[in-house]
Amino acid sequence: MSETIFTKIINKEIPADIVYEDDLCLAFRDINQQAPVHILIIPKKAIPKLNDAGVADQELLGHLMLVAYEVADKEGVADAFRLVLNNGAGVGQEIFHIHFHLLAGRSFTWPPG
Ligand code: AMP
Repeated sequence: MSETIFTKIINKEIPADIVYEDDLCLAFRDINQQAPVHILIIPKKAIPKLNDAGVADQELLGHLMLVAYEVADKEGVADAFRLVLNNGAGVGQEIFHIHFHLLAGRSFTWPPG
C-alpha cells in the first residue's frame, strides 16, 4: 500500500488541525479551505479510493459518515452541510487515501462543478 500525506497525519509525523479522532478514523481541517467549514474525514486504514473498498469495509465507511455528522454538529452546521467523496483523478481526487470532505457555512449550488 503506497503511503500518502494522510498516513503521515495519522501517524502524527506532520501536523494537522485535528477536530476528531477515534480508533478507526481522524477528522482534520483541510489546508485549502473551500468553505468556512471544510473538514476531511479519513479512515486510519489506508484505502486508496472507494473502488478499493469491499464488504469488509462496510462498517468503517458507515462510521465515517456518522462521524461526519457528529463533527458537523460540533461545528454548528448539522442542519446544512455537504459531504463529498472524490473517487478518481478524473473527478479531482488528489490524495489516494479515501476521504470525505465535509463542507458547510456558505451557500452551495447544484449540480456541483
Ligand atoms: P481530493 O482532491 O479529494 O483528493 O482532496 C484532497 C484534499 O486534501 C484537498 O482538499 C487538499 O487541500 C487537502 N490536503 C492536502 N494536504 C493536506 C494537509 N497536509 N492537511 C490538510 N489538508 C490537506
